[in-house]
Amino acid sequence: MTRRALVVEQPGAIAVVEREELRPGPGEVVARPAYCGLCGTDLDLLGGNVDAAFVRYPLTLGHEWSGRIEAVGEGVTGIEPGQRCVAEGIIPCGVCASCLAGATNVCEIYDEVGFTREGGAGDQILVPARVVHAIDDSVPLLDAAIVEPSAVVLTGLEKVRPEPGMRVLVVGDGTIALLAVLLVGLWSPVELVVAGRRAEQEELARELGATGFTLGPPPVGFDLAIEAAGATDAVAVALGAVRRGGTVLQLGLPPAGSTLQLPGDLLVNNDLTLAASFGYTSAAWARVVSLLNAGTFRPGRIVTHTYGLDEFERALAELAEPTGRRGKIMLEVTGG
Ligand SMILES: [Zn+2]
Ligand SMILES: [Zn+2]
Repeated sequence: MTRRALVVEQPGAIAVVEREELRPGPGEVVARPAYCGLCGTDLDLLGGNVDAAFVRYPLTLGHEWSGRIEAVGEGVTGIEPGQRCVAEGIIPCGVCASCLAGATNVCEIYDEVGFTREGGAGDQILVPARVVHAIDDSVPLLDAAIVEPSAVVLTGLEKVRPEPGMRVLVVGDGTIALLAVLLVGLWSPVELVVAGRRAEQEELARELGATGFTLGPPPVGFDLAIEAAGATDAVAVALGAVRRGGTVLQLGLPPAGSTLQLPGDLLVNNDLTLAASFGYTSAAWARVVSLLNAGTFRPGRIVTHTYGLDEFERALAELAEPTGRRGKIMLEVTGG
């Protein structure tokens, strides 16, 4: 028996290939992905634009998947075949100082599905059982496939500890920005403005909770600005839009090797806090899953495009050049 996998053999070369079936070793599980989201990072992986320390080619794409357990290895307890699930993409070692402090996102051993180990854009994925999170039967697997980017956003938000009643600006209008709108809403901001790049995104942003949308330079005086554009100029825009004493959270990842330009005296004169966040912690992942299972968080509504695994070229083209209203791009791998 073989399985399909969407593989980047080397930068620029991508195809659906047949691979030998996976079998779980001790402490491992094999899952069958139902859905697998694609994001800008997948384009960077295809283009060879990710720092070499975080990539191993050939790589099977897919760090945003949901599915069902297919087989469990020796010694795995509490997880049965058929269980609906997601699994943390960053596999923490569990024993280094960062892991012991709960900062599993900066584990000393970097290992991540879709980057250094096989991802979920295919018929099977193998992960350690300890990173699996159970999804209730009431939760659509389409929503569950958005746990990964949601955990990225939540990890950053928890770092800057928003407070109820804040004035918040989100810079960017892509998926991370839209999820930031949805998730910062948990802290009931009094104002939530999106500084976008494409007018087509306004409706989607407002549906998710934005109270304003601007294409030009944003207004100023925000308590918190969330940079979610991943462009070098977006950090400066965010820093210029917060009040004195305000906070900027950088979630977007500018291209490797790029340089940020900021007025040298800006941070001090305005008493600013600039925080950045990498990936997600296991704790943030667990909190997103519990919000999902409780029915209070339904991020599936940000999905605007769904393609079959064999339609990956169309999916990647839409990802590279958005046309019209564009939220999350999802591969329906084996279906929900
Ligand atoms: Zn992603
Ligand atoms: Zn560790």
